[in-house]
This record gives sequence, structure tokens and C-alpha cells, in this order.
Amino acid sequence: MSYDKNNIFAKILRKEIPCKKIYENDYVLSFYDINPQKKIHALVIPKGLYTDLDDFIRNAKETEIIEFFKAITHVADLLKVSNISGGYRTLSNIGKDGGQEVPHLHFHIFGGEIVGKMVT
Ligand code: AMP
Repeated sequence: MSYDKNNIFAKILRKEIPCKKIYENDYVLSFYDINPQKKIHALVIPKGLYTDLDDFIRNAKETEIIEFFKAITHVADLLKVSNISGGYRTLSNIGKDGGQEVPHLHFHIFGGEIVGKMVT
């Protein structure tokens, strides 16, 4: 699947639409989900244009991959949901069967309460 430059997260990265930013560096942007499913619901996205996790792992530079996964833990620390303060769930939906709605790689971070069953 080729990358759709008109997806909503591409527009957020280009600052065409706003987001409630949590963290940003050269490689990633993190912001609150507009429709939170848990008390804390954040998203972490790479600045590189990748449709999903498979595209990212196959095509991104190692530095991009390392910085992306480091950023998830950093954001969990900023949100005070890391495993020293209760824990959280991170997940990434991939493609149609995975329930992915926005075709720019993102990891969800859910926390601030017991998240519940893994899959519904
Ligand atoms: P997914 O189903 O994994 O593709 O998740 C896409 C997520 O993006 C959903 O949880 C949406 O609520 C969220 N979302 C869509 N538009 C925005 C937006 N403008 N700002 C923040 N989150 C958004």
C-alpha cells in the first residue's frame, strides 16, 4: 500500500491541523488521541512517512526505528504510566484486519486505569 499524504496524521505533521502535543523530537511526534478510549490515550507517530509497522520495519533506517521505540517509553514516563507507576498498554493496528483507520504508523498508549482485556 502506498503512503497517502492526505491522511490526518500527515496533516498534523505538516501543522495543517492542530494536535494536543505531548512530546516531539527529530524523529517522532506524540499527541493525545482525539477520541480517548481510556483515561490516558496517547499516540506516538514517526515523522517519516510510513503506512504501518511492517512498512516501517522494512524500510526505515535503524536510527528511526530505535528512536521511535525509545520515544514510546519516554512518552509513557512523561504521562506517568510506565511500569513503575501502574503500567499501560501499547498497540499498533496494521491494515484492514488489524482495524487500522489512519494509514500513518502509530502506536497507541492506553493507561491511567486498568485497561482491560487484550482484544475485544
Ligand atoms: P487506528 O484505528 O489504530 O488507525 O487509530 C486511529 C486513531 O487516531 C483513533 O484512535 C482516532 O481517535 C485517532 N485520531 C483520528 N484523528 C485524530 C486527530 N485529528 N487527532 C488525534 N487523534 C486522532
